[in-house]
Amino acid sequence: MRALYVIFVAILLQLLPHADTVFLSYEDARKTIVQAEDRLLTGSRIYLNDKEDKVNKMFMRYKLDELGAGFFDADVNAAGLHFFKGKKLVEKSKILKFLKRLPKGANLHLHPTASVSSEWVVRNISYTPGLLRCTDKNGVSILSFRRTPSKHGCITKYVLVKDERRRSLSPAGYDRGFEKLINLYTPVPEYDYPTIKTVWTKFQNMFRTMSDVLRYLPVFRAYSWRMLEEMYEDKLMYAELRMEFKELYDYSGRTFPPESSLKELLSIVNDFRRQNPKFMGIKVIFTTRRDVESNKVIENFSHFKKLHLAYPDFIIGFDLVGQEDLGQPLYNFISEFVNLPKTAKYFFHAGETNWYGASTDFNLLDALLLNTTRIGHGYALMKHPIILNAVKARDIAIEVSPISNQVLHLVNDLRNHPGSFFMSQNLPMVICNDDPGLWGSKGLSYDFYYAIMSFAPNHAGLKTLKKLVWNSIRYSTLNKQEMRFAFQSLEKTWNQFINDVLQGKVF
Ligand SMILES: [Zn+2]
Repeated sequence: MRALYVIFVAILLQLLPHADTVFLSYEDARKTIVQAEDRLLTGSRIYLNDKEDKVNKMFMRYKLDELGAGFFDADVNAAGLHFFKGKKLVEKSKILKFLKRLPKGANLHLHPTASVSSEWVVRNISYTPGLLRCTDKNGVSILSFRRTPSKHGCITKYVLVKDERRRSLSPAGYDRGFEKLINLYTPVPEYDYPTIKTVWTKFQNMFRTMSDVLRYLPVFRAYSWRMLEEMYEDKLMYAELRMEFKELYDYSGRTFPPESSLKELLSIVNDFRRQNPKFMGIKVIFTTRRDVESNKVIENFSHFKKLHLAYPDFIIGFDLVGQEDLGQPLYNFISEFVNLPKTAKYFFHAGETNWYGASTDFNLLDALLLNTTRIGHGYALMKHPIILNAVKARDIAIEVSPISNQVLHLVNDLRNHPGSFFMSQNLPMVICNDDPGLWGSKGLSYDFYYAIMSFAPNHAGLKTLKKLVWNSIRYSTLNKQEMRFAFQSLEKTWNQFINDVLQGKVF
């Protein structure tokens, strides 16, 4: 029996060249395997200095207390609950408090039109004079500031939101109803969204509700500013946004071509950086919807190439968005997509599916063959050993958005998310938030909560967090000089954070 442990350990770890000559006790064999697995974990090779070590001990006390309570009572185990069920618990957690103050580097997967918290939208946009609302044939509210709004498929007249609120029984009640138009939150997600179809329909309707409002110049400016503010308040220093550029309009009815929204955004970011010099700004991954006619996708791809050539350091790459299962697979566009400008990159959403072997599932393969720089979601990756090996060998980062994958119906308990598998062998991964505004999240801290509480093993602490934060810069497309600056700046804010924790300013 004893020899069996030896062979077992030797095969697994390749540590003992002459396994048959070395004997391990049961306890030693056990310990060896545990230690070997620990060495593979995300963050295992991170060195912690004395101060960081003290902070880690504090963090671990709170983490293990919280998980310990959850182990004996699943009702309070936020790490295993749906975000909508566990949000109140997460918000009471000392871990979230810690993560909100933790410098988190960069956010590499965010869609701006779903980035700002719904609470801010209600308090600000819904109170902006001139906001109109109508309802389309599917019962979806459409919001607009145009003086003579086009129908947008509305079957009701446009009414002023201000008038509706005044006529309502309670303005606070009206605001709560308004927020439901742009936030998927429900205390009973299993009842309100029994299938992926129900949740995706509501989710995509929300983009429709907000689409015209976000093209109103004053709102475009205020919303974009708030997006940067919410990132910065959540201790992010940089982001790569997935977006398209649309025509803007103002109250007088003037319209401005799509490129003007790009210039507006650049100017907003520059102003924001002047006020907040630690914020390094943003770059843009140009996106187009995958659920439209092929020629529209091809047309937008050509448009992207032109924009990239005009703004090569700002419009850095291309991606397709929308529900992957129901949209067109990458394979439909190979003959176009092989013609990418040398300076541009792909950042494909791929593998955001539970359909093993369906056309959607092959997006991972095509993303790889098209030389994608990162993979959006990569949820299905662990079912594809060859692709997975290539991802490791080519160091392609996986952009993991835990809450998004849960809310949009890929997995219920985030402890079953492949993020655990990615972490168990230190696959290149970054934590992202996708569309936080549409499910009542804010910044990246909530997603980090699930990364460290649900994906990571119980004993993983600051080393794992630090590795994830450092990954976010390492796998960004910042150029050499920008990256050097980013790491220097991150190091400073990180050390300040460590001091703050030790001085009792965080917990
Ligand atoms: Zn996305």
